[in-house]
Formats: sequence, structure tokens, C-alpha cells
Amino acid sequence: MWVYRSEIISEDATQPGALVHIEDERGKFLGTALYSSSSQIALRKLTGERLQTQQQLLELLRQRVRTALAYRQWLPQAKDTNAARLIFSEADGLPGIIVDRYNDILSLHSQTQAMDRPEIKQDMVAELQTQLASSGVAHIVERVEPHIRELEQLPPAENHLLHGEKTSTQYTLNGVHFHYDALSGQKTGAFLDQCENYAAAEKYAHGKALDAFCYQGGFALHLARACTEVTALDTSRPALEIAEENEKLNHIQGQPEIEWIEANAFDLLKDYSASGKQYDTIVLDPPAFAKSKRNLETALRGYKELNLRAVKMLRPGGVLVTCSCSYHVSEQDFRQMLTAAAVDAGRTLCILEMRTQSKDHPIVLGIPETHYLKCLICTVR
Ligand code: SAH
Repeated sequence: MWVYRSEIISEDATQPGALVHIEDERGKFLGTALYSSSSQIALRKLTGERLQTQQQLLELLRQRVRTALAYRQWLPQAKDTNAARLIFSEADGLPGIIVDRYNDILSLHSQTQAMDRPEIKQDMVAELQTQLASSGVAHIVERVEPHIRELEQLPPAENHLLHGEKTSTQYTLNGVHFHYDALSGQKTGAFLDQCENYAAAEKYAHGKALDAFCYQGGFALHLARACTEVTALDTSRPALEIAEENEKLNHIQGQPEIEWIEANAFDLLKDYSASGKQYDTIVLDPPAFAKSKRNLETALRGYKELNLRAVKMLRPGGVLVTCSCSYHVSEQDFRQMLTAAAVDAGRTLCILEMRTQSKDHPIVLGIPETHYLKCLICTVR
């Protein structure tokens, strides 16, 4: 549960990042939360229990870390995969903390004043080390997002090593290999939430394929194992450079060489469809177009334009893998948008799979924000 600043009626003097008790307007106790003095989300509820001391807080957090790790252990393991999200903030009862594993490196990201407190961070790191030592994780890097630190009024910081000595490695998703450089300035690492969707897309992919927002090649490299031709595009030159390096890690005799193009998908899809290009498989995984409820309409127009062009370019029997990672675009909005695109294109789409984020990004009933990724795999008639 979140409490926005605008919902607070009165508050006692509180330190940034402190443990606080929430009460309703009649003074009824509602639970214990972590406080932010600057974010619009002033309180992130941790528990309905009344925690009093720092010690109790640390114990609860350690317990939640163990529960989060045990859940990932329990999940059916994806084949030939050694990267996963181990802690996903509210979805694991640990608001403001994200931990991803890339083979032997953990990348930790604290997003709130509370989770950035040194005693909390150190304690979490110690617990992660203890729990994961036997599984080959030997290095921990802290990644920072300057924009989030600014919002939380935290002092600027750089990505840095917290434990061990290694900051770059290689990791594997579904048998596909990738580079990981934890200290690199720009966002690096993977969209681990798509891991299961890569494997699903590969099952249906065939013929001539296009990956329109390819980043470091997540979908494209999977498509290359199933298709005869793969074109992948992105606006980010640094992402494409890593994608090409990733391709070299994987190149297998008989697989097509991927054509990497630096381009804007809106422009390129328009040109390609105008020039009559056709594909058998198209993947659309754009960035979140709807960053807030306010730009939902504009976002849906953007999704529709892309999907319309893609549907038009697919041959009968072709496969469309279309995603939205905007929380504000609901599953229903997304399907309506796609229906409208199909109607405009004069084509029929049949859903093969309605998918979402990988299970290491848990969707918690009662916490709607934890369900954000939509991924529809369709065949086009
Ligand atoms: N499918 C990728 C993740 C895509 S993230 C994976 O699974 O790894 C979205 C990507 O879209 C980013 O790499 C970003 O650089 C790129 N992007 C943003 N706007 C774009 C545009 N207009 N055209 C093409 N790429 C764009």
C-alpha cells in the first residue's frame, strides 16, 4: 500500500527514510511504513504489525529477502538461464529495492530514502551474500539512477562495487548468451521480465523476422535460432553495439546474420510498409509510452500506429509478438487497440498466447502496480 503526500492529514516530525506508524483519521492503527520526505509517495506500507525498533525492521527485511530468494528457488527453472530478478520491490514486500542476478554478479538498486540508508543497505547486502554464497554469486554492484536519486533528494552517486571485485560478466537466458557490464553509465543489463516471452516468441517465429525495438538483442537473438532472416532496429547506437557483440557470443553455423539498423521504428515501419516489405514474424517491444494516466490517449495512438503497420506487413500465417510495459495501459486497453489496428488493416488476428512478465517479477493480487507487462502473441490471417 502506498500513501500519497496529498492524503496525509497530519504528521509528526520525521527523518527522511524513517520507520513510521500509519493511523487513519480516527487514530486507528493501520500499519508500519517507510517514509520519504520528498517523493509524492510519502509512505510505503511494510506490514500491518507495529514495528518499533530498527532491529525489528532489519529482521523483517532479512526475512523478506529469504522469502524472495526461496520463491525464485522454488520456481521451475528456465532452461540454460542464469539471470533473474531476485527482489522486485513491493512485489516482494521490499518497497524500494530491486536486485537482479546476472550470472555471478548481483546488481542492487535502492530507489527510496529508506532503502538507501547505509545500515539498511549493508544489512540487505550481508543477507544476500549469506544466502547466495553457495550459488556462485560472488560480486555485488550498486546501480544508481540519477533521476530517481534526485526525486528522493538523495546525494548524487555513481554505480559502484559493494562486494567482490568483478563488474562485468556474461549471462545466459534460454541458452542465449549476453554481455553484462554493471558499471556502464547507460542502462545496461537486460529486460529480464521478457525472458519467458523470448522463449515463447521463438516457438512461433519463422521465416523473415523484424524486431523493432531490439535494445541489446533480447528477442532478435532468440529469433535468429528459428528464422531465416532477422532485421533488428533501435534508436540507441550504444544498445546496438552491445547487441552486435552479443551476436558474436552466439553465432552458430547455419543461423542467419542479424541486420542491425539504427533507426526510429515509427519512420522505418512507415517506409517499409510503404515500399511493400513483408515479414513472417514481427516483434514490437517499445518503451513505456504511457508514463502517466494523463498521456494514455497519446500512448494508445502510438501503439496503434506501430501495430497497424506491423499487421499490414505480416504475411498470412505470420506471427506478431506485441508488448506494452506501460502500467497505465490495461490489458483491456491493449487488446482494444490491437483490435482496432486489425480492423484498420483489414486483417484477422488470432491470439496464440496472452502473456505477461516472467514469474520472477511476481504479480501480487491487491497491488495492481505489480502487473505492468502485456505481451500478446498473435497469428495473422
Ligand atoms: N525488446 C528489448 C527491450 C526494448 S526496450 C529487449 O527485450 O531487450 C525499448 C527500446 O526501444 C530501447 O532500446 C530504446 O532505445 C528503443 N527505442 C525507443 N524509442 C524508439 C524508436 N522510436 N524507435 C526505435 N527504437 C526505440
